[in-house]
Amino acid sequence: MREYPRYVAENWIPFDPVELVKRTEAIVCRGDERKYTDFYVVGVYGGISTGYTVGCSLRCVFCWVDWSRDYPERLGDFYTSQEAFENLAAAASKAGIKKARLSGAEPTLGREHLLGLLELVEDSDFDTFILETNGVAFGIDKSYVEKVCSYEKVYVRLSLKAGTREDFEAKTGARKDAFEIPFQAVKNLLDSGARFHVASMSADPRFMSPDERVALAERLAEIDPVLLANLEEEVVDPYDTTLKRLEFAGRTTEFPLTRRYVAFKDMLRE
Ligand code: SF4
Repeated sequence: MREYPRYVAENWIPFDPVELVKRTEAIVCRGDERKYTDFYVVGVYGGISTGYTVGCSLRCVFCWVDWSRDYPERLGDFYTSQEAFENLAAAASKAGIKKARLSGAEPTLGREHLLGLLELVEDSDFDTFILETNGVAFGIDKSYVEKVCSYEKVYVRLSLKAGTREDFEAKTGARKDAFEIPFQAVKNLLDSGARFHVASMSADPRFMSPDERVALAERLAEIDPVLLANLEEEVVDPYDTTLKRLEFAGRTTEFPLTRRYVAFKDMLRE
């Protein structure tokens, strides 16, 4: 078995993200427990209580997440779903807010933990739980998507990393033959009647060429044009971790953003 993948660097061999789901779960999950590095409130979504999870199934070169993504065995502590819920609820109550989310790395790792947490959220004062995912676990297991989406407070934000197979491999470090998995997750969410939208770094010309952006848009519109009309298009922010990972990957860390694409949803509304 190859060494555990850390960050994209010279002579990188693309990995199988499905296998990485399992290998990472073996490190960051222990029955109902999952590793976190922190619980806190941030201002996004109008104020949201956030659990910062450890471990991911991709290795994006522009990733902002702390080093627990790359060294999950060294960082973070295990929390049961009850303990994670109590920490989220305590932070929310202090700030007087009713939204919660899991962020950091990939929240869908550790099915038992996540479902246990959602069960507790469903019977609580929280009115919304936002799940931010890269779509790997949801693309390979439709029953997981159906179960998660059976909770009424769940809202999913699925983040696509690339518009072509080659760009997927170059940006995520994963094998290009896994490119379709996040799109399958989109289909699974649609079939499950989920409340969700799709996001991508496609407003950023530094990380997405016009051709790749069109390819991504076409792929989404093929599944359902409404997905494109609601696509959240972001740019990459130059966090310290982002810059370091870009440097390791041999990419430029010169980061001026001189222009950005007009979002498809804005164009479609004109
Ligand atoms: S950007 Fe998201 S999906 Fe990509 S490696 Fe970081 S946490 Fe994982």
